[in-house]
Amino acid sequence: MAKRKAGSYAVVFDIDGVLVHGPKPIPGAKEALNGLMSKSIPHVFVTNNGMVDESAKAESLSKILTEPIDPKRMQLCQTPLREQADEIGDDLVLVTGYSMHPDGAEGVLRGLGFKNVMSSTDYAAGHPHLLPNKKRPGETRPAVHAQVGAVVILETPVDWHEDLQVLVDVLGSSGRLGEPAGSTQKVKLFVCNFDFTYAWANVAPRFGPGAFVRCLETLFYQLHAKNLEYICYGKPHSPAYRYAERTLAIQMTGQPAKLPSGCTIYAIGDNPTSDIRGANAAGAHWKSILVRTGVFDSEAANDEQDPADHVVENVDAALHLISKLENIEE
Ligand SMILES: [Mg+2]
Repeated sequence: MAKRKAGSYAVVFDIDGVLVHGPKPIPGAKEALNGLMSKSIPHVFVTNNGMVDESAKAESLSKILTEPIDPKRMQLCQTPLREQADEIGDDLVLVTGYSMHPDGAEGVLRGLGFKNVMSSTDYAAGHPHLLPNKKRPGETRPAVHAQVGAVVILETPVDWHEDLQVLVDVLGSSGRLGEPAGSTQKVKLFVCNFDFTYAWANVAPRFGPGAFVRCLETLFYQLHAKNLEYICYGKPHSPAYRYAERTLAIQMTGQPAKLPSGCTIYAIGDNPTSDIRGANAAGAHWKSILVRTGVFDSEAANDEQDPADHVVENVDAALHLISKLENIEE
């Protein structure tokens, strides 16, 4: 069989449950990644984590795997938002969600190119009448009258009562409190990570940002009799896959709009409802590979609800499979 030309395929890696478990590498992951890099195979890391920025995530993964990871190949759930920064311009962007960035969630958004960013907490402190029962001893902030252009839910909010109240108020306005939006929603809402729950040590799964958004849209509908409009950026939603394609296209052709014709993108993931569902919906040129080292730990041959194109034991086996499918000599 004829060998395919190098560069006619690319690999998208999920991180947790595929390459690492928390702070530890998954056996074989380092060697598998090293082999891929030594052959200069185009690749990108796509994770739903939004608590840090691309550089910090690349650095932590580099340390765990002892392989250099280029931050340009690191796509977090909020990374595609970078493409919205110009359109929002100087309008104020309110952000909520727990973050490990030294400058909080605001720092993450500034790193994506947003010029005018404020946390929903600071915005609420400038408008204390929005939360009549909240005590703010010694805390005073000037009221904010700037036009709000967008709200970003980066990760799980910390104070749900405050955020639910303030975000329903802002999203139902023209962008200025007290001025109703009218028939169409004026303030954009971007949701980075839509996970309903997340795993945490020794307790049942905790509510994630997806659970918060469900509450927000219910309250918004009850108050305004309109559906809340929003765009989701993390997996399994399509913006994550379109952005990954643009990053891979730059690696493969130098142009973000041009993947090589006939190119196949292999997505390796451990979570059927996120990694596999998203790749299966991303187009015929995407092939999903489910590994058994993370969320999917069933003895079943495949996931029933979101079956992958291929199921293998681990990331090393996934890369061997890709070589075989692509007729590449190892
Ligand atoms: Mg995972």
